[in-house]
Amino acid sequence: MQNLTAEILAIGDEMIGGSRLDTNTQYLAQQLTEIGVQVVFHSTVGDDPRRQAESFRTAAGRVDVVLATGGLGPTADDLTRQVLAEIMEVDLVQHNDTLDHIRGLFRRYGREMPESNLIQAQFPIGSTPIPNSEGTAPGIDAVIKSGENQCRFFCLPGVPAEMHEMWQDYVRLKICEMSGQSQAFLTRVINCFGSGESHIESLLGDLISRGRDPVVGITASQAVISLRIVAQADTSENCQKKIVPVEAFIRERLGDLVYGTGDETLEDVVVRQLNQEQQTLAILDFGLNGDVTAALSRAQTHVCQRPVVGGSFFSLPNPSDEDARKVTSLNKGGDSQSKDNRNNSSSLRQADLPVVLAHHATEIREQMQSTWGLAISWPFRNPDDDKEKFLVVLSDGTQIHQHEIFHAGHSALRYTRSVKQVLNLLRLSLPRDSLNPT
Ligand code: ATP
Repeated sequence: MQNLTAEILAIGDEMIGGSRLDTNTQYLAQQLTEIGVQVVFHSTVGDDPRRQAESFRTAAGRVDVVLATGGLGPTADDLTRQVLAEIMEVDLVQHNDTLDHIRGLFRRYGREMPESNLIQAQFPIGSTPIPNSEGTAPGIDAVIKSGENQCRFFCLPGVPAEMHEMWQDYVRLKICEMSGQSQAFLTRVINCFGSGESHIESLLGDLISRGRDPVVGITASQAVISLRIVAQADTSENCQKKIVPVEAFIRERLGDLVYGTGDETLEDVVVRQLNQEQQTLAILDFGLNGDVTAALSRAQTHVCQRPVVGGSFFSLPNPSDEDARKVTSLNKGGDSQSKDNRNNSSSLRQADLPVVLAHHATEIREQMQSTWGLAISWPFRNPDDDKEKFLVVLSDGTQIHQHEIFHAGHSALRYTRSVKQVLNLLRLSLPRDSLNPT
């Protein structure tokens, strides 16, 4: 097997000027790394043909493979194909099948193909078009010689969805052929919440060390830790066979820390748990800006069953001084959030908070006739340890479950983390679902 080196080249003024985040490079770097290609350079160049030619030449002289994205459109600033032809010292020629494909796409949209799109069917002589089933910008597969080095260029459109598909269907296979690798790859992502990256890593022994088969990587994003198992074998079934025991080991070691797989979020899991038991949840949220409710509502939009999270959200203005932060006064009656009451300066004693929240969790449950009632307090500072916390109370009508969650971490992330902690608490308190029985 040949060890290939690669450079990823992002093309476009948007990336240079900072108005667009270059996610294509991140995606391609992950994908190349997964198939064992060593990514050695990332470069970005604007829509300037002279500078593009310079970047292309530099890349051609220092790596085996270049993956370029962007600049394949029909407009005057899309110059990737022209620059490539210039460096290859060849002309552009029309590829008739590609032209038919582009015309067909326009027919499907009920539009006449503008003259400007003709350029997208032109390719440097000696190169191969890379099919783009959904878009009008096919890619280009070309070889550029630079001194002793022979470099394979794969130029792909900038639109991420089109680029991803062309990577999966064409480029990945070609690179595997180049390196003489087996061609089947399978990735399984296991998502965890409730502990830090290093602690999770320590629970897994040497699973994440280099050189293992399958490879297991660990990443952290917004308090979610993801373990990515990547297997390669001659068939996908054999990849699957490699993944199954590793996933079982991870689940066994991490237990409740594992909440889902793939791109599943905590809110997806909570909504699924509620759906499976045909249960409902009502929420009264004083301190998290309705974000728990909002997260659950978003999850419902991609869960097939109808909304299960009934409920209400009530937000009081955030108290400004430390005193008011303790807890704003709340009545026991159904109209407990009256304006008078909101302005009432007689703060509740912190010691009364559990009772008051338990009352609210019970009351919101009864009012909304839901299976569960959840009440979330203001953030408050505990005088004993000076730590900022929320009190969260969950009622199922017979029992009250009370939890404290720490409102900690960097200010930019604190609320997101606290919302996730509440979702995680729900996940652990509701009946488990069959997909994540741990
Ligand atoms: P098209 O014909 O579809 O325009 P193209 O290859 O010319 O294809 P660009 O015009 O360069 O692509 O980019 C199209 C869009 O794709 C950009 O407006 C941007 O939204 C997105 N895009 C381009 N490059 C990147 C990148 N590196 N990361 C994320 N998005 C990108």
